[in-house]
Amino acid sequence: MSSYDRDVIVIGGGPAGSTVARYAAANGADVLVIDGRDPIGTPLQCGELVPTNDEMRRLCPDVPDMDDLFQTPPSAISRHSDKMHLVPPSGKPLKFDFDGYVLNRVAHDEFLVEVAKKSGASYMVDSRVEKVENDTVYLKNGETLTARIIVDAGGHNGPIRRDYWNEKSVKIPVKFVLMEGDFGEAVELHFGSMAPGGYAWMFPKQSGANIGLGIQRSFAKGKTLNQYTDEFTSKYDGEVTFNGAGSLPMSGTIKKFVRGNYMLVGDSAGMVLPSNGAGITIAMIGGRIAGKVISQHLQDGTPLENYEKIWKEQMGKVMRNSKRSFKVGSLLFRLPDWLLNLMFNRLTKGIIWRAVTCRRMFWVI
Ligand SMILES: Cc1cc2nc3c(=O)[nH]c(=O)nc-3n(C[C@H](O)[C@H](O)[C@H](O)COP(=O)(O)OP(=O)(O)OC[C@H]3O[C@@H](n4cnc5c(N)ncnc54)[C@H](O)[C@@H]3O)c2cc1C
Repeated sequence: MSSYDRDVIVIGGGPAGSTVARYAAANGADVLVIDGRDPIGTPLQCGELVPTNDEMRRLCPDVPDMDDLFQTPPSAISRHSDKMHLVPPSGKPLKFDFDGYVLNRVAHDEFLVEVAKKSGASYMVDSRVEKVENDTVYLKNGETLTARIIVDAGGHNGPIRRDYWNEKSVKIPVKFVLMEGDFGEAVELHFGSMAPGGYAWMFPKQSGANIGLGIQRSFAKGKTLNQYTDEFTSKYDGEVTFNGAGSLPMSGTIKKFVRGNYMLVGDSAGMVLPSNGAGITIAMIGGRIAGKVISQHLQDGTPLENYEKIWKEQMGKVMRNSKRSFKVGSLLFRLPDWLLNLMFNRLTKGIIWRAVTCRRMFWVI
């Protein structure tokens, strides 16, 4: 008989944690997900845009079986959009075809929890993990639980990442609103001094829109995130029904995701594409790999480090290109708005799109 309470404890039941749980439990592992929130996914902290499965196949060509991984139900989709506008400070957009869903993110995360439960995972909500030592998880309420493998899917401040990894990520503070009104059909990303070092967005929903921005504080010239957000959102006309905030790791994945019996997945491992802020689908790609490797490890001792190897095979190229684009973008977006306006033109259109969609911008970089 096992001397552990569980085979696997997953800290955090967001897209990363629920996906790890789904794939690890599917092959018989005894998995417990612990999350500080109840219900998981609330309050909303998201712009809610994800690419469709077809768009994901184009963006991440080395990732197999997208339809198995992403089974987004209609109830979690607020709007299907097929246009993306990249907007410089002038307001004159470059227009692109982009197949995306603006989600009902809360319903989306609830759905992922249900899928993981159907696979056999169990959940403990409203329970915050204070720390992890050796194979023991310490809850804030004083309870302790042990597991053979402990996964930190608790976001970029997750307790294992915080206490056992030295590597730092660049974090971008983000604020957003939900606004009533009619905002057209295209999703918009805005670049320039309205969001220094980051970008702003307007994603139209079935009714209303999700509008927000993220900045790098070191570029902010003394203005607060609140000021930037108020200035940007006030350009749109409508009643604000919700205010939200959060922060995003924007320097890409860290070097190692595994240490002994600890694993990092999703934001805790930096699995956000820095050139466009996509984190939901990327966390789920990482979650599936981690979950499958865990179940293999429990069956035949396959090293947990295989998770890092498979991640690199599936996402290495895309992440590398995205990191590079972010670095170039960080330099360009310091330029004055008038110069940025000039740079958004028909000749550069293809290069800008390649940068945002994590492809090589030029033949050499
Ligand atoms: C404002 C904002 C807008 C965004 N917009 C988009 C977007 O439009 N599209 C996109 O793809 N991505 C977007 N992202 C990024 C995306 O939300 C994340 O990359 C994604 O949620 C990562 O999933 P995760 O499971 O790693 O972490 P999370 O979704 O953050 O889940 C972590 C879970 O862990 C729990 N937790 C944390 N610490 C503990 C603890 N100590 N004990 C117990 N439980 C704990 C939390 O309660 C939470 O449920 C946005 C992020 C922010 C902040």
